[in-house]
Amino acid sequence: MPLSCERPALVWLRDDLRLSDNPALTAAAQGGCPLVIAYVLEEDPALRPLGGAARWWLARALASLSAEIARRGGTLVLRRGRAADIIPALAEEIGAGAVHWNRRYEAAQIAQDSALKATLRAAGLTVESCNGALLHEPWTVATQSGGPFKVFSPFFRASSQQPVRAPTRLPPVLRFAPPPASEALADWQMEPTAPDWAGGLRAAWEPGEEGARAVLERFLAHGLAGYAENRDRPDLENVSRLSPFLRFGHLSPHQVVAAARHAEAAGSAGPKDIAKFVSELYWREFSYHLLYHFPTLATTNFNPRFDAFGWADNPAQERAWQRGRTGYPIVDAGMRQLWETGWMHNRVRMIVASFLIKDALVDWRRGEAWFWDTLVDADPANNPASWQWVAGSGADAAPYFRVFNPVTQGEKFDPNGDYVRRFVPELARLPAEAIHKPWAAKPDVLRRAGVTLGLTYPHPILDHAAARERALARFEAIRG
Ligand code: FAD
Repeated sequence: MPLSCERPALVWLRDDLRLSDNPALTAAAQGGCPLVIAYVLEEDPALRPLGGAARWWLARALASLSAEIARRGGTLVLRRGRAADIIPALAEEIGAGAVHWNRRYEAAQIAQDSALKATLRAAGLTVESCNGALLHEPWTVATQSGGPFKVFSPFFRASSQQPVRAPTRLPPVLRFAPPPASEALADWQMEPTAPDWAGGLRAAWEPGEEGARAVLERFLAHGLAGYAENRDRPDLENVSRLSPFLRFGHLSPHQVVAAARHAEAAGSAGPKDIAKFVSELYWREFSYHLLYHFPTLATTNFNPRFDAFGWADNPAQERAWQRGRTGYPIVDAGMRQLWETGWMHNRVRMIVASFLIKDALVDWRRGEAWFWDTLVDADPANNPASWQWVAGSGADAAPYFRVFNPVTQGEKFDPNGDYVRRFVPELARLPAEAIHKPWAAKPDVLRRAGVTLGLTYPHPILDHAAARERALARFEAIRG
């Protein structure tokens, strides 16, 4: 640590809204200079704007982070606008000697950061960027010929051989510089008011570092044992729900891996569960690897054959899908869980995405955009990579002929119908054997359950068997 370091270090937080295991913050604090911690609400046409649910999350997350920094005697400085203008101006305003941030991986963000680095360095500042989001930087994992991976298994084999660093330690006492003026979070109006659609989100989530710790601890105690067997069951509580916390960086994947390894050592979960759980974190790594090497992941078919695919313009079915009114209970339960809580179970994400793309023949980009707007974990890498995976247009994608059957998927992964009952309450009194295909139930079964198709719950908006044949014919046409 330098003996005398009086020029402040500016720490610019972005998708790393945490104090613990934050390499940029740790590096700045270890430098010994007084700190200014800032967040910029970026309004830049070059960057993809956040969706509604993510904006709600961000507002809460910033409030929580401000409180955490205040407890340590500091202030989170909020500014809004183009980071390319704000960061150099802020650095000058506080007389900073150094600027620190953790890296992001969208092409426009990388371009912005590189330009900023050059500007700041030209002004005589030290600039340090760190890895706070990924177990391994995308460019450190390469095929034998030095190129990017396009298939998950060899990517996983190569990347999981690299050591995962231990979480970093933040000095217990942080030294802050006098803070410059901050905008007021309330003025940013990121939470919905008219109408206030966020009640379900508020009930489901506590954004921020403390919320992340609570969710992780609950998962380690109650969900991890049995994860390998039950992670596909939306009616059970065996997945972690850590995705929005990872998306906004309230905890790092390093902390998650360390906690899982600790649980293994303590004997609270078996090696099979731990291995499966950690491998899912590598799917996230794979998505970022793809995004880094194929920057147009969210807008362009990874497999160009799909450019010739004849997507349908099908607004009525698309709207029924968005509203959870397709008449297929597992699809509707998923879409309503998404609308209500801003999150959906992974198995159900695959089912609803397959339904939109392959049954309704709607372009995967429209589904991706809806998820982007409604998910609290809407992620620039995981969301497009997963949509392309389901469409069959992606890297290492599901084969085009794999069309999920919403009835058999429901019966297999929600065998008692409890998940459907929770999110489609008008079907709650149907017995398990009828709940995934109410149109096939005997009239007295429907009557006893209080279900009138077409009135209390929709008829199916399409016939899955016929839709499947139509999809296969279309996909066959572009197979080449
Ligand atoms: P867990 O099973 O507990 O897994 C732990 C972590 O591993 C997750 O938090 C996530 O970071 C990562 N992970 C798990 N499964 C996957 C996967 N299949 N791909 C990539 N990473 C994974 N995930 C997002 O984080 N944001 C998205 O916007 C997103 N959009 C998706 C869209 C579609 C169509 C599909 C099929 C999947 C999408 N996923 C997305 C991946 C996955 O569904 C979620 O990461 C997972 O459901 C989050 O729940 P969890 O935290 O309980 O997962």
